[in-house]
Amino acid sequence: MNTPTWAQLTNLAVAVLFILSLKALSSPKSARLGTLIGAVGALIATVLLFFTGIELDNLIIIVVMIVIGSAIGLVSARRVKMTQMPQLVALFNGVGGGAAGLVAVVEFLHADGSGSFLFWLFTVVTVIIGSVAFSGSIVTYLKLQEIMTTRPVVIPAGKWVTMLVAAGTVGVAVWAIATPEFWLILLLLALSLAFGVLFVLPVGGADVPIVISLLNACTGLAVAASGYVLNNVLLLIAGTLVGASGTVLTSMMAKAMGRPLTATLFGAFSGTTAGGTTEITDRPVRSGSPSDIAIMLGYAGKVILVPGYGLAVAQAQSTLRELADLLAARGIDVDYAIHPVAGRMPGHMNVLLAEASVPYEQLKEMDEINPEFSSTDVVLVVGANDVVNPAARTDKSAPIYGMPILDVDTAGQVVFLKRSMRPGFAGIENELLFDPKTTMLFGDAKESLTKVVSSLKAL
Ligand code: NDP
Repeated sequence: MNTPTWAQLTNLAVAVLFILSLKALSSPKSARLGTLIGAVGALIATVLLFFTGIELDNLIIIVVMIVIGSAIGLVSARRVKMTQMPQLVALFNGVGGGAAGLVAVVEFLHADGSGSFLFWLFTVVTVIIGSVAFSGSIVTYLKLQEIMTTRPVVIPAGKWVTMLVAAGTVGVAVWAIATPEFWLILLLLALSLAFGVLFVLPVGGADVPIVISLLNACTGLAVAASGYVLNNVLLLIAGTLVGASGTVLTSMMAKAMGRPLTATLFGAFSGTTAGGTTEITDRPVRSGSPSDIAIMLGYAGKVILVPGYGLAVAQAQSTLRELADLLAARGIDVDYAIHPVAGRMPGHMNVLLAEASVPYEQLKEMDEINPEFSSTDVVLVVGANDVVNPAARTDKSAPIYGMPILDVDTAGQVVFLKRSMRPGFAGIENELLFDPKTTMLFGDAKESLTKVVSSLKAL
């Protein structure tokens, strides 16, 4: 049946909402509004389905499932810690891909052997991409949640097994388009699920968030293809937007990590992936007390604060801001240096510091702040490691080799707040920790900062 004109116009309005949402998401200031606009669009699109005269079988089941799904989504999104956001995104994304794949399987059954070439083509494409996004996302979730090892997993002859499964998937896809039989779709489903797992297993450590972004783009494409299968323009538009923005995000993340996407995806097969582990050495380091650090900071002319993943773990953003305010009140020049991949998701540090109402003007991006380190008296590194590790410049064998870093090592003095000598996400040692100009203050970042703040107040 034809969609009524009013419903088509509403669809158009929803598509515009999705685009406005993406636009607003591109700046931290308007990101909250962007999320809200997108959610309103999705809500209108869902409600609309019930009023456009489409015959819906199993109405009660659909409504009950919507209620259950919304409740799960709401509770998990409210409860999730900021540091666990990437795995939640992975899980939600996987569910989206899986849903698109299942819809395609059902539509295949409905078509009962009769359909155009394009219909079969898009159905098969949706099954493949949706299933890969589903199983791949589940593996990324298991890795980030540390339910399984975060290190690259290379099975024996992994490269060849993966290539064989990929070739099998393409072969069965062509066969299913030529001879649309249900058992072929089921075989395709199984092969695609297996490919998703094999594709993500060799990706390790710091590269996992990039793969999440790539799978997110895949889900977008699967949804767009399912829009064709279901004759639903809105799914087509929304899926294309997710596919395009996910692709751009993936390429930006790979660029920020200074590694081509191919090295991220296939690095483990050639031994060049991020996520190795180095044994913790027993070399001596210089450590100081909170009052030593307060004196260093309190009598400096210029201080740069470098937040990292540990700041998020410790939830120490407000205490860091308190310290920055105290230093500024003493007439000290204070800035925050923001590395593009500090933390565990793009914009992680901006979001964290915005929570503590740190003015945006004080947040300096890497390119802007790097020339300033050499004229800085003290750099305070709070729970960051990889983003200041000089091995990225010098050590060709380091998994982060080539990643642009904050030039902290050029400053007069460096203070690290961390709990131990353990490495960061990439799993490699940081020579800067052993540098004579470095002082370590061991402990949870929030506790350490609180002590430094009280010592500073007493100066
Ligand atoms: P790292 O993961 O390199 O280091 C974090 C440090 O924080 C650790 O060395 C840890 O040391 C310390 N830490 C953890 N908890 C606490 C705590 N409670 N108090 C004090 N310190 C703590 O973080 P960076 O931000 O420097 O680097 C981010 C990494 O994530 C990079 O490798 C980047 O490539 C990767 N990545 C980030 C993405 C993004 O979009 N942001 C995307 C993809 C990858 P200790 O255990 O001794 O306390």
